[in-house]
Amino acid sequence: MRLKKNDLVQVMIGAYRGKKGKILKVFNGKDKAGKDKNTCIVESINMRIKHQKPTAPGEAAGRLKKECPIRADNLRLVCPRCGKLTKIKREKKGTQNARVCKQCNEMVDEK
Ligand SMILES: [Zn+2]
Repeated sequence: MRLKKNDLVQVMIGAYRGKKGKILKVFNGKDKAGKDKNTCIVESINMRIKHQKPTAPGEAAGRLKKECPIRADNLRLVCPRCGKLTKIKREKKGTQNARVCKQCNEMVDEK
């Protein structure tokens, strides 16, 4: 998993193909079967309707639209430096293991 929270990504496949959004949450643990999860929740991507029962007074209930996790393989990072769709490579910069854009060879993360 080379994506992080707050990265801007574009969806490459499925109903949301071509749509861009910000990563809200990353799941990179293992599931019950021991496989990598490798999914993210992306802002306003993969919206599903959830039927939420009122559990506490004053809490939102009814048919709520909620983001569902999408596989990270289907996402490409939009490089904050060059604005192109890109993949990320890891590179040693001093003591840090930095994320580097494959298009412009700039570091993706701010110091
Ligand atoms: Zn770039």
